[in-house]
Amino acid sequence: MQESVMKAWWDSSHMAGANAAYVEALYEAYLDDPQSVTDSWRSIFDALPKVDGVELESNHSQIREQFKKLAALGPLARCSTGKSSDTSNQSDEKQVKVLQLINAYRFRGHQHANLDPLGLWQQERVRDLELSHHSLSETDFDTVFNVGSYAIGKETMPLGELFKSLNRTYCSSLGAEYMHITDTEQKRWLQQRIESVEARPEVDRDTKINILKGLVAADGMEKYLGSKFPGAKRFSLEGGDALIPMLKGLITEAGTQGTKEVVVGMAHRGRLNVLVNVLGKNPSVLFDEFGGKHDESLGAGDVKYHAGYSSDFATPGGNVHLALAFNPSHLEIVNPVVMGSVRARLDRRENDEGKVLPVTIHGDSAIAGQGVVQETFNMSQTRGFAVGGTVRIVINNQVGFTTSKIQDTRSTQYCTDIAKMVQAPILHVNSDDPEAVLFVTKLALDFRNKFKRDVVIDLVCYRRHGHNESDEPNATQPVMYQKIKKHPVPREIYADQLIAEGVLGEQDVNKLMEDYRAAMDHGACVVEEWRPMTEHSVDWHPFLGHDWDTPYDGSISLETLKHLGERLVTYPEDHKLQSRVNKVYTDRKAMLAGDRKLDWGMAELLAYASIVKEGTSIRFSGQDSGRGTFFHRHAVLHNQTDSSAYMPLQHISEDQAPIEIYDSVLSEEAVMAFEYGYATAEPECLTIWEAQFGDFANGAQVVFDQFLSSGEAKWGRLCGLTVLLPHGYEGQGPEHSSARLERFLQLCADHNWQVCVPSTPAQVFNMIRRQVIRPMRKPLIVMSPKSLLRHPMAVSSLEELSEGVFHNVIGEIDELTAKDVKRVVMCSGKVYYDLLDQRRKNEQTDVAIIRLEQLYPFPQEECAKIVAEYSHVKDWVWCQEEPQNQGAWYCSQHHFWQVIPDGAKLTYAGRPASASPAVGYLSVHNQQQKNLVEDALTIK
Ligand code: AMP
Repeated sequence: MQESVMKAWWDSSHMAGANAAYVEALYEAYLDDPQSVTDSWRSIFDALPKVDGVELESNHSQIREQFKKLAALGPLARCSTGKSSDTSNQSDEKQVKVLQLINAYRFRGHQHANLDPLGLWQQERVRDLELSHHSLSETDFDTVFNVGSYAIGKETMPLGELFKSLNRTYCSSLGAEYMHITDTEQKRWLQQRIESVEARPEVDRDTKINILKGLVAADGMEKYLGSKFPGAKRFSLEGGDALIPMLKGLITEAGTQGTKEVVVGMAHRGRLNVLVNVLGKNPSVLFDEFGGKHDESLGAGDVKYHAGYSSDFATPGGNVHLALAFNPSHLEIVNPVVMGSVRARLDRRENDEGKVLPVTIHGDSAIAGQGVVQETFNMSQTRGFAVGGTVRIVINNQVGFTTSKIQDTRSTQYCTDIAKMVQAPILHVNSDDPEAVLFVTKLALDFRNKFKRDVVIDLVCYRRHGHNESDEPNATQPVMYQKIKKHPVPREIYADQLIAEGVLGEQDVNKLMEDYRAAMDHGACVVEEWRPMTEHSVDWHPFLGHDWDTPYDGSISLETLKHLGERLVTYPEDHKLQSRVNKVYTDRKAMLAGDRKLDWGMAELLAYASIVKEGTSIRFSGQDSGRGTFFHRHAVLHNQTDSSAYMPLQHISEDQAPIEIYDSVLSEEAVMAFEYGYATAEPECLTIWEAQFGDFANGAQVVFDQFLSSGEAKWGRLCGLTVLLPHGYEGQGPEHSSARLERFLQLCADHNWQVCVPSTPAQVFNMIRRQVIRPMRKPLIVMSPKSLLRHPMAVSSLEELSEGVFHNVIGEIDELTAKDVKRVVMCSGKVYYDLLDQRRKNEQTDVAIIRLEQLYPFPQEECAKIVAEYSHVKDWVWCQEEPQNQGAWYCSQHHFWQVIPDGAKLTYAGRPASASPAVGYLSVHNQQQKNLVEDALTIK
C-alpha cells in the first residue's frame, strides 16, 4: 500500500480519532494482562514488536504505526472483535474501563488507604479511583466483567463486588506501592500475594495471642520504665508498638525459612524496647544502666540507647542469631554498617542470601533526609555490596524531632519515595492494625528472599511523647498531640478487637499485662524465644588484649616471594593487555629477574599475594581499586580483545584464600561504613578501603569519627580495617594534595588506631602484612603515595621485603658521621625524598634525616634509639609539606618533644598556615616546596 493511501485508510478507519483512544486503552489492558482482551485483539497485539520475548511498552504513536503496517497486510476485519455491532464495541469498551479501574487501584489505591492511626493525613482526591472517571457507575454494579489479572481467584465478577474488593485490597490498612516496578514477575508476584487475600489473610488464634503479647510487652516495658525512671530519656516506642510483634514475627518466619543470622540496624527510637522485648536483654541490666552502673571493661562506653546486643532466638526452623548493631546518633549511618556486616557473614556462609537477613529500621524524616540512604539503595544490587536485599522498616511517627510539616521535611508525598530508585516495593501500613502489619512483614520477607532485593515497610504510627520523654511536643505539634492524648494505645485497640472476636476475655488480657509487669519486677529475660548465643560463627578471642607492639614474625623467604611474583605476572596468553599496562607487567617481570628494584605496585601486590597464600582472605574496595587511581596497581587486567577481566591474585595457588577487589560505587560515606561493618564482623579477612584522593574521605567523616576511631572505646568492637588515603603535595591544587592527616591525628588516643606514612615499597609490603599477621585488629590509616609510586628513589629489593619488619622509624641512610651532624630533620612521607635529594646535591653532611613511618601510636622506644646517636644535637626540625595548621606539626609535636634531647630546640619547616590545604598554582607550589626544603636543610 502506498504511504498516501495508507494514511487515507488510517484517517478514515475506525483506528483513528476517538477509536484510537479505545484501541490504545485495549492495548494498555493487554500489556497489563494479555488474557484480558479478546482472542482476535490478542493475536494482533501479539504481533507487535518484542525484545527478548518481552512486549515493549512502546509509546502510542509507535503502536499506531504498527497498526498502519498491519492494516497494509489485510482487511479491516483483522482488527475486529468478531462482533461488528456498536453494542459489542460498547461492552468491550466497558470491559476495558473495568480493567483500567483495577489498574488504577493498583497504581493509586494507596493514596486512599487508611494509613494514619491518628486520621490526620489529608489525602488528596484521586479521581482515577472513582467509577465516574472510568465512565462506569453504580448502574453497572450487577454487570459481570472479566477481572483480567486481578488475582482474586475468579475470572469474572459483578462490578459492585469487584469495586468493594478493590477497596478492601488497596484502600484498607495496607497501601501497597509496587506498580513502579518494571519487572513483570515481581509485579505479578506481589499482586498475587496481596489480591488473593484482599490484603487480609485469616489469622489463627495463636498468632493473634502472640501479637497481643508483643503489644503488651511493648507498652508494658515503656510504662514500667516511665514509672520507675520518670523523666529519664528512653526514646520510647509508644505509638509504634507494633514494631515488637512485627520484629518477632519477622525473625520467627525468617528462621522457619532457614535464616541463621539476622543483623538489625536502628536508631534510638524504640531501641530499649527492642533490646528487652526482642533480643532478650535482661531488664535488670537495663535498670542498672538507668541507675548509673556500667561495663567497667569499656573505655568511654556509650549511652544505653546506642548499645548493640547479640543473642539467639528460637524459631521452628532452628535458632537464629540476632545482632543489633551499635549505633551513634547519626540516624541512618548504621545501614551500610549492617549491610557490610551481613556481607561478611554471607561470605562465611557461601553466599547463601537466605541464611543472613539484614533489617534496617529508619525514621521517617531521616530516610528521606539523609543521603546515605540513597547510597545504600544504589549499592544494593552491585557486585561488591549486594546482600541479597534488605528488609527496611520505617518507624513513621510523622515527626522528626520537632519538625513534622511535610513541606519542611521532604519534597515527596511519602518519606519512602527514595526506595523507588531501585524499584523496591513499598508497603505502607497502619500500625494500629497489627494483623495487617504482620501480613506485610511476611510479604516483605518473602519478597526479599525470593527476589533478593530491597523491600520497604512504612509503619505509619505516631509518637506518644516528645522526641524524648522530657520534651514538650505540644509546643510544636499542638493538634497532633491533642489527638494523641485521646488516642487509645495499640495494646488497648487490639485487645478490644480480640475480646470482641471472642478470642480472649478481658481477664485474660489483664493477666497478660500483670504477668509482664511481674516479669519486669523479676528483672529476668522476658523473651520466651531467647537462647544463649551459639549460632554466630566467629571467635574474636584470639584478637582480644593485643596492642600494636605485640611481637610478630612477618618474614618470608626469597624463594616464596619469587614464586608469588611469578604467579602475579602470569595471565592467559590470549589475554591481550593495553600497551601501558603491558609495560607495567614487563617491568614487573624485570623486577623479578633482578634487573631492576621493586616499585610500589609490585610490592603491594606481593603483600596481597603472600596474605592469600598464607590463608587470609582479602576484600578491597575503592573507587578505582582494580587499576589504582594513579595507574600503578593493575590488579585486574582487562583483555583488549573482549573486555574480559583477569585477576592474577586469584590464581596464586589452588589452596589460597579468596581475594576480591571491587571498584566501588562513587560514594565514600556508605562504602566506608560498609567496609567498617565488614571488618567488625570478620577478623580473618584483610579489609581495605581506598579513597580515590585522600581528602575524598571527608565524605565519610561520620564513619571515621563515630565508628572507626571510637568504636572500640565506646562499644568494645574491634576493627582491622585498612584505609588507604593518597596524600602528597605535587602541585595538584587544594583538592588533590592532602588526605587531611591532621584530622586523623587529632582523633588519636587510647591507641585507637594506627596512622602510618610508609615511604618505600618494602615498608608498604611489611605494613600490610603486619596488619593481618599480628593478632590485633585495629584500624590502619595510611597516607598512601601518589608520585612516590613511580619515584626512582622509592624502590626496594626483594631482600628488604623478605625481612618481614615494618620499621616504625627509619634513621639516616647515608653514611654520615654522627658527631658531625649539627641538625636533625624529622619528617614523614614524600618530602623525605625532596630533602634527601637536595641534601645530596648540596653535598651536606651536617644534617641527618629521620623518617617517622608510624605517627600513631608514636614509636617512642624505636625513635629514642635512633635519636640517641644525635644526643649532642641541639637543633631539631620537623619538616612537612602541609601548611603549618595541618599535617602532623600541631598534633604530634608533643611526641617529638619527648624524643629529642633535653635542652634541644624544635623548629618548624613547612608551608605557612593556610585556610586551604594547598595552593592552586603550580608555580607557587614549586616555590613553597623549594623554600620548605631549603628551610629544613639550612642551619642558621
Ligand atoms: P555478633 O555476631 O555481631 O552478634 O557477635 C557475637 C559476639 O562476638 C559478640 O557478642 C561479641 O562478643 C563478639 N564480637 C563480635 N564482633 C566483635 C568485634 N568487632 N570485636 C570484638 N568482639 C566482637
